Amino acid sequence: MSKIFLTRRIPKPGLMKLNEYTDDYAIFPPDKPITEKELIEDISSVEGLICLLTDPITRNVIDSGRKLRIIANYAVGYDNIDIDYATNKGIIVTNTPGVLTDATAELTWALLFACTRRIVEADMFSREGRFDGWSPTLLLGKGLKGKILGIIGAGRIGTAFVLKGIGFGVKVLYSDPYINEVLEKKTGAKRVKMEELLRKSDFISLHISLKESTHHLIGAREISLLKPSACLINTSRGPIVDEKALIRALKDGKIGGAGLDVYEDEPNIPEELIELTNVVLLPHIGSATHEARNKMAVMAVENLIAGLEGKKPPNQVNIK
Ligand code: NAD
Repeated sequence: MSKIFLTRRIPKPGLMKLNEYTDDYAIFPPDKPITEKELIEDISSVEGLICLLTDPITRNVIDSGRKLRIIANYAVGYDNIDIDYATNKGIIVTNTPGVLTDATAELTWALLFACTRRIVEADMFSREGRFDGWSPTLLLGKGLKGKILGIIGAGRIGTAFVLKGIGFGVKVLYSDPYINEVLEKKTGAKRVKMEELLRKSDFISLHISLKESTHHLIGAREISLLKPSACLINTSRGPIVDEKALIRALKDGKIGGAGLDVYEDEPNIPEELIELTNVVLLPHIGSATHEARNKMAVMAVENLIAGLEGKKPPNQVNIK
């Protein structure tokens, strides 16, 4: 059995880096997400694991990796890993921050525009042969200038998202436990409590990590505070929003719309969401650019190698 296990083939630059280090690695052969059971079967003699956000790195999986020293997640979020348990067992966990920030921030704008300018609906309309000439009232959307953009989580991605939108003339509110001076100086953004942000914003975008304290951070009560015209964008993690409450609000017209890249029970997208026209649905592609995915692959491998060599990996998230 190999010393290193990859739960999925990662982009070439990462594999090239790994090949320079060793050929003692195995890649889970089917090109599909690995299950908990398969992980348990496959990692008994593995010292280094490269895994994805779809892989459940549970207690049982960690226990099955009796020689495991490092878990290098190919993602910035690591809510798929029982981090406390890994830490207790002295296993290093790493992530891939920063290199996917631009890609995810760009995608967030794409999703926001898809909602405000009804891009998906308009594309369908054109393909269905329904375009019979310019009209003063055809597919009207919402403008951005002077509107309020509220971001929950002003970290790497939240900040990049706002900075990329400077030219659009939105006013920015943000909610974060920490003051973000860069954001405030460059955009005049104002830090407010989440409730105020939810009440005042025209567009709300979520950029926080998923942990116990942020599970269903946006629930029925929070959604009820939104303006009836508000548009909620989620490119963070699905379980941060109570999906059932969101579906109810979208169905009842209590909010204007939503743009989602992530879901509570991926890859399942509830049928009720699919039937709604005031929501744009993406298949978790926030970081899906060639540039970002290549850099993530190299970063994950560099983290893994450092961990195996007994050095502190550059992106270690536990055992400080
Ligand atoms: P980050 O750590 O730089 O930023 C998170 C921010 O959220 C921090 O500033 C933190 O202080 C703030 N925060 C924490 N709890 C909060 C709360 N309750 N209310 C308000 N703010 C809170 O992380 P990042 O690199 O910006 O990534 C954010 C998340 O985006 C990741 O954890 C990941 O889950 C998600 N993500 C998704 C995709 C995708 O493909 N859709 C891609 C990349 C990242």
